[in-house]
Amino acid sequence: MWSFHIPTMVHFGLEVVKKHADFTECGSKAFIVTGKRSARASGALYDVTKTLTGQNVTFVIFNEVEENPSFSTVEKGASLLRNENCDFVIGIGGGSPLDAAKAIAVLGTDPEMTADDLYSGEIEYSLPVIAIPTTSGTGSEVTQYSVLTDNNGNKRGFSSFHAFPLSSFLDPRYTLTMPEQVTISTALDALSHSVEGELINNGVNPMVKGFSLKATGLVREYLPRVLDNPENLLYREKLQYAAMLAGMVIAHTGTTVVHAVGYPLSSRKGIKHGLANAVFLIDIFRRISSSAKEQVTKAIEPFENLDELSEFFKKLGINNFSVNIEEEEIREWAEKAAKAPHNQRTPGKLDRDFYERLYKKIKGMDE
Ligand code: NAP
Ligand code: FE
Repeated sequence: MWSFHIPTMVHFGLEVVKKHADFTECGSKAFIVTGKRSARASGALYDVTKTLTGQNVTFVIFNEVEENPSFSTVEKGASLLRNENCDFVIGIGGGSPLDAAKAIAVLGTDPEMTADDLYSGEIEYSLPVIAIPTTSGTGSEVTQYSVLTDNNGNKRGFSSFHAFPLSSFLDPRYTLTMPEQVTISTALDALSHSVEGELINNGVNPMVKGFSLKATGLVREYLPRVLDNPENLLYREKLQYAAMLAGMVIAHTGTTVVHAVGYPLSSRKGIKHGLANAVFLIDIFRRISSSAKEQVTKAIEPFENLDELSEFFKKLGINNFSVNIEEEEIREWAEKAAKAPHNQRTPGKLDRDFYERLYKKIKGMDE
């Protein structure tokens, strides 16, 4: 038995906002959520505001979303949204502004609610969210997830059917301005979603399997091409499509412990999310492979085997990764990783000692 459902209307293609967005259907005043620069630099903000103005829909811009968006940022955004009486949210940017937009759309409906409440009990309502990605990685434009950083610096994801965007507009032009390191890291995030999601799916859902196979194959073929030709729109489009498909994969499965171990590298050390996963992926998949070889081999298709995937990472410079980590941090993070709910979805039994060794390995490279 399997099911497949993505409630988000996806619009994909060049100039898709200008050609297909009808914001009058979403509400009467938009709350636009962005990071500091990229929404403007990518041209997406211009297209959105021009279209809104042409359709006589007023808007407010909240451009304060940082990488790994914090509880305080989404609470600030929600309060501004309420003061401005906005009735729908447009997120423009990478996963950080998109995830913040989802949280703001829920918190904005209830002045009593705090970001902490997003994690306790069922979310019952959200304002409509329109998602416009400018990176090709998280797939947040088609998922029910939002990952925030709490007041103690821990990354925590919440999940709700109400957090699926109402619609998403994917225009590859918006991804052209990504610098090389953002292009690499976000593509690696898409690749991680694709193989981690299929590892969990284990071939059970044929649509998830098909999407994963396609997404992994596209990243394998087009990430090197994009890096050689960053201005090539067709290649950029392939990565954007791959990231969206991989988003649909994790919407049905979730991510594995690879994501759980990567979280503190981002929230505590400022390492980009996709890179933070990728540096652990091979070691974790090798370990899982010792008890579930066939499952791992199938999950990474069309890569022939882990050696080929490892070689792919090496060519991107992933094997040279290192970061300063204190012994105390290693103990704390390994403890957290061992308790993360991702363990229940991940095949193989990985314990605290294993996670400690993983963290020590990337610290070791630094010495
Ligand atoms: P991001 O944190 O949104 O952005 C990273 C950097 O890239 C920022 O400096 C941003 O600039 C810049 N940038 C974005 N688009 C650009 C463009 N077109 N041109 C130039 N610069 C650009 O990166 P992300 O990897 O897309 O998102 C990561 C976040 O998503 C993490 O918090 C992660 O946990 C979360 N995530 C969510 C899901 C989900 O399903 N919801 C899945 C995986 C990961 P600005 O700050 O100026 O915008
Ligand atoms: Fe991710």
